[in-house]
Order: sequence, then C-alpha cells, then structure tokens
Amino acid sequence: MGRTVICPGSFDPVTFGHIDIITRAAGMFDHVIVGVFINMEKKPNFTVEERIGFLKRTVGHLPNVEIVGFDGLLADYARERGATAIVRGLRAVSDFEYEFQMALTNRKLNPELDTVFFASDAQYTYLSSSIVKNVASLGGDISNFVPACIYDEIFERLNTKGNH
Ligand code: ADP
Repeated sequence: MGRTVICPGSFDPVTFGHIDIITRAAGMFDHVIVGVFINMEKKPNFTVEERIGFLKRTVGHLPNVEIVGFDGLLADYARERGATAIVRGLRAVSDFEYEFQMALTNRKLNPELDTVFFASDAQYTYLSSSIVKNVASLGGDISNFVPACIYDEIFERLNTKGNH
C-alpha cells in the first residue's frame, strides 16, 4: 500500500514557500493530499474555490498531488483518507512552538497520525501569505513570492492602490 500524507493549510494565497514543501512531499511520498481549510478563524482574502484554483495551477501538474477543501478536525480527515502523516513546513524557530503543539494534539486525537516537518528552502524562510497580502495591497511587486501564472489575479484583487 502506498504512503499517503496530508499537507494542510490556509494557502491564502499559495506562495513559492508552499510550492517548495508540496513538491518535496510529492517526491518523497506516494500520494500527497493538499488540504485547504474551508472554515478559517482568520477571514481569508480568497474563497476556498479561488485558493484551490491557485494550487491547481501551480502544483496540479504533479501526478501524485490531490487538492481538496476540507472542514472539521484534521485528525479525523486524515484517518478518513488513510493518511499516515501530516506534512508541515518550518521556517524559523518562531513556527516551532505552535507546530509542536499542533503535532502533539493531532497525535492525541489520532495516535496513528504523525507529523513530518520539512525545513523551508533558505530562500523562502521569510515568505508567508501575509507578506504577499501586505506587499500587494501597497502596490508592490510580488513576483518573488508567487508564480507568474497566478500573479495578475492575486495582485489585482489585493492591490488597493490601483497601480500595476
Ligand atoms: P496555516 O494557516 O495553517 O499556517 P499556511 O497556508 O500559512 O497555513 O501554511 C501551510 C503550510 O505551509 C504550513 O506548514 C507552513 O509552515 C508552510 N509554509 C508556509 N510558508 C512557507 C515557506 N515560506 N516555507 C516553507 N513552508 C512554508
């Protein structure tokens, strides 16, 4: 039986940092489910359909990657889908505390579920969806943060300054 893992996240929007983690997970595991949170505490800028669409256009070509929206407990969804591990990216020590707490919580909820951490690519350690949103909202260039195929759609939506 192949090994299935799940990469959960908000992906609001997807960045080169996410793409790097998903691509590396796809190289290591048989089946990678990219799970986009449907109901988020923090109100997303993009709808779940838009966030899934951006992911499909950037990592949809990877044959063992599946992109889905999901709701509810990650530990339950992982069990339902037969995933043996959660894959998360670690950028800096600041990510560690929260990620460690989530990993232990998920293992408590589902003892068969482990969490695997990939160290971020050094060139993306500063990068987050929030950075994309902040820079684009001020009319800044986001070409170092998101791929060209989704640039315009993201920029036009977020740029409140009207310049391009
Ligand atoms: P969440 O809202 O759960 O933090 P995100 O969409 O922000 O979801 O991130 C999803 C996953 O991608 C997380 O594991 C996060 O650590 C990872 N990630 C985000 N940005 C980067 C990056 N620049 N490099 C490596 N991993 C990243």
